[in-house]
Amino acid sequence: MSSEENWLLPPEYAALGGRFCAGQAGAPAPAPRMLYWNAALAEQSGWPAAAEPDPNLLCGARAPAHGEGYATAYAGHQFGHFVPQLGDGRALLLGDLQLPAGRAELQLKGSGRTPFSRGGDGKAALGPVLREVIVAESMHALGVPSTRSLAAVATGDHVMREAGPQPAAVLARVARSHVRVGTFEYFAARRDLPSLRALTDWVIDRHDPDCRQAEIPPLALLERVCARQADLVARWLSIGFVHGVMNTDNMALSGETIDYGPCAFLDEYQSNKVFSSIDRGGRYAFSNQPAIAQWNLARLAECLLPLIDADEERAIALGRAPIDDFPRQFQQAWLVHIGLKLGFQSPVDDDQALIQDLLATLEREQLDYTLSFRQLAHLLDSAHWPEALPPLPADVLEAWLPRWRQRLAAQGTTPEAAARRMRSSNPAVIPRNHRIEAAIAAATGGDFQSFNNLLAACLRPFDDGPEQLDWMRPPKPAERVLQTFCGT
Ligand code: AMP
Ligand code: MG
Ligand code: MG
Repeated sequence: MSSEENWLLPPEYAALGGRFCAGQAGAPAPAPRMLYWNAALAEQSGWPAAAEPDPNLLCGARAPAHGEGYATAYAGHQFGHFVPQLGDGRALLLGDLQLPAGRAELQLKGSGRTPFSRGGDGKAALGPVLREVIVAESMHALGVPSTRSLAAVATGDHVMREAGPQPAAVLARVARSHVRVGTFEYFAARRDLPSLRALTDWVIDRHDPDCRQAEIPPLALLERVCARQADLVARWLSIGFVHGVMNTDNMALSGETIDYGPCAFLDEYQSNKVFSSIDRGGRYAFSNQPAIAQWNLARLAECLLPLIDADEERAIALGRAPIDDFPRQFQQAWLVHIGLKLGFQSPVDDDQALIQDLLATLEREQLDYTLSFRQLAHLLDSAHWPEALPPLPADVLEAWLPRWRQRLAAQGTTPEAAARRMRSSNPAVIPRNHRIEAAIAAATGGDFQSFNNLLAACLRPFDDGPEQLDWMRPPKPAERVLQTFCGT
């Protein structure tokens, strides 16, 4: 017990008090069993290497040694509609960890009902838990800021879902913090200015302590959050990621990707792609993500206005500047990340046309997004392209390829050097939908082999060695996943 207190610390967020969170115990679990344990992440957070992870702690059935867990309050715009109270309906802030990058939070998801559960059961089904483990760890391996997966525990219970009874599981995830745009909206809607101020101070202390020295710290924080989101969403687009539920309660101030629900990676490139069954209007479609990020950030700016200046007009003028600047910031970040995929050292505005022409071709020819970029590198240095993978039809890029080669030559890069650089920014392996679904189906039946294999492959996304080959394959027509579901 004493060693637990050395790595699982009382959460700093709880010190904000009862308006922010409620002390909460997790639900009892009949037969907790570890399904997944991220030993590398545990070690980074000071976990004693010799200690066995305790499934009772990691599913919420046992309280942490420091005392208790907490369910936090937040609101949010869901598909554009404001809901004044959401909160952790099935999550529990278990404590803080000390990571090399700074203090972080350990949160359970699926650990039972809380004061914010509304009609829900507070639980999570095995499938979505494993999905979040795979996708979050893939994102991290791809260099995209994300919550991390520390553990997954089967509780021995079952939950009722649309597809029938499912084994229940709990995810233990780690984030620098779980404060969302919706957390600010919760207090703004209540016109609780002291709490808004305390929350803003807390977020600055945790994420942006240097903003404390700014002339208007809440404005400096807003600028930081906008910059982080511009970079984050640019990274999503560069790897073909569709979050699926970019509600304001699913956008973290930390700039980490959070709340993996019906998210998915593109197979063939389609700019308006929607996977989620509940996103009927395409609000959260692939290419709409930057505009939605800006919309969400405008909601955050509105919450911060009273802290930016007592004079409303002046506050609005100051607060809207970073929001208005967001498209430019996003565009700049996007150009950097997509430029790297084409071997560009410092992309310039003129590269836009070249990039858009390539994307238009990929879309028209329904080519695989991930593999196409990977193959472009092979075209440069004539490396072997495995027969098991579909070849890039060179004829459709006949006019485009010389323009690209010229551009590379103009920056003084040899084709070989460009190809090398491209292989470290274009993944070979992404967690493709059909593989995730197959892994979940097998795991739900008790077989974790393909879950473990898929995860192992996704942890080395830039490696295209022979054992990775099978995981690089796009889905055959019959394997294609057309829709993803919240499932919860
Ligand atoms: P999400 O769509 O996962 O971001 O969740 C939106 C809101 O619904 C949050 O307040 C969650 O805590 C809540 N929620 C989702 N699933 C459940 C559940 N099974 N039981 C209780 N609350 C839930
Ligand atoms: Mg959420
Ligand atoms: Mg969720």
